[in-house]
Amino acid sequence: MNQPRALVIGGSLGGLFVANLLRTIGWEVTVFERASGDLAGRGAGLGIHEELFAVMRRIGIRADDSLGVAVHSRIAFDRTGNVVCEVPVRGIASAWDRIYRALKNALPEQCYRSGVQLERFLQDERSVTAIFTDGSRASGDLLIGADGVHSTVRRLLMPQVEPRYAGYVHWRGLVGEADVPATLHALVFHHLAFHFAEGELAFSAPIAPETPGSGRRCQFVWVRPVDYEVTLPQLCTDASGRCHGISIPPPLIRPDLIRDLREQSKARLAPQIATLVGRARQPILQAIFDLESPRMTFGRVVLMGDAAFVARPYVGMGVTKAALDAQGLIDALVAWGGTVAAALPRYEEERRQFGSLVVERGRRLGAYIDAQRRPLGGLQTMLREWGAAGVIDGETIGAAIA
Ligand SMILES: Cc1cc2nc3c(=O)[nH]c(=O)nc-3n(C[C@H](O)[C@H](O)[C@H](O)COP(=O)(O)OP(=O)(O)OC[C@H]3O[C@@H](n4cnc5c(N)ncnc54)[C@H](O)[C@@H]3O)c2cc1C
Repeated sequence: MNQPRALVIGGSLGGLFVANLLRTIGWEVTVFERASGDLAGRGAGLGIHEELFAVMRRIGIRADDSLGVAVHSRIAFDRTGNVVCEVPVRGIASAWDRIYRALKNALPEQCYRSGVQLERFLQDERSVTAIFTDGSRASGDLLIGADGVHSTVRRLLMPQVEPRYAGYVHWRGLVGEADVPATLHALVFHHLAFHFAEGELAFSAPIAPETPGSGRRCQFVWVRPVDYEVTLPQLCTDASGRCHGISIPPPLIRPDLIRDLREQSKARLAPQIATLVGRARQPILQAIFDLESPRMTFGRVVLMGDAAFVARPYVGMGVTKAALDAQGLIDALVAWGGTVAAALPRYEEERRQFGSLVVERGRRLGAYIDAQRRPLGGLQTMLREWGAAGVIDGETIGAAIA
């Protein structure tokens, strides 16, 4: 029997997880990534869940605490910087680059093609053919859309399904160890530290060094409500007056916006977090969307990761969900002896339910942030459930923070 072949569209973490896992069950794989060159260096902090480690080990990657920095607890400040709540949740804070690098190194070079953008695809009972913008083609048994929230694969299949703006943006920024005042080291490198301002949220988190032994880093994230029609395009307008739509390359963010951000952080946030806002060299702006796909499989084509479901970042599940989608697909293929037609319905059933639960959970946690008056019990639950993965216990969380 010929070796089955998969075409993976998108070479970020989701695409790398599924490509590596498919190779462990004897598939031939090619990843097609639109961006030229390396994606590392563009990511930031990432909470690690045991589920993510487990999938990495299945690929043969050594995955342990050395991939990150140990976090001892989660704390919440009031406006003046007093700790009003502490929840002893231990965890590992890693970095997007570290996971990306490990997965990319595990995949043979000839399996990854950069600078190749999917335009469309054709499929019949026997095969699927990807057609790229440079006119080249590739055929296989299965095409996997791991091409992110603005997925071309999804748009071709379900043009009506669009990401939904969540009503707020993230400002975030990295601060290197040398720029963090010594008095804040113990705090920012060992804890997730939150401040729930009115209708807003800001937090700091440590980030693993880019390579083992290099300097520690931390990041601030500030979640702020912003209207989609007027203010978001204004924030995405550069100093020459050109509007970049609903996102903007960080170096083009107007200096007056960054000045305002720093000034407002002093007025609105706990001083510890405002210090990080002031010291981050290049703040990044990102509008937050969520996305729910009604279907994940179409003949020989499947969606996974952010192409299928995107939850608000409070559930901290983007990467782990992509890894679990990849694992779900591989398990379904193994269970059905590699028969695509039989395996995909099982994948769809399991992963669609999970994706919907995660999106719903993100919305509930988001509603807590929107609320103006919050009970302390809700605050404790919020800290505990932040970034929680694994078994999704939406009912408990929803009830506790309502
Ligand atoms: C550069 C980068 C940095 C990130 N940093 C963080 C972070 O710091 N923390 C965090 O929690 N999450 C981060 N994320 C998001 C996180 O990776 C995802 O939530 C999660 O890994 C699931 O993503 P995905 O692989 O499904 O999609 P994505 O990570 O969005 O990747 C989709 C990939 O598909 C490629 N692509 C899109 N369209 C096409 C096409 N037509 N043809 C070929 N390729 C295409 C894109 O270039 C991209 O590389 C980052 C994503 C990217 C791309």
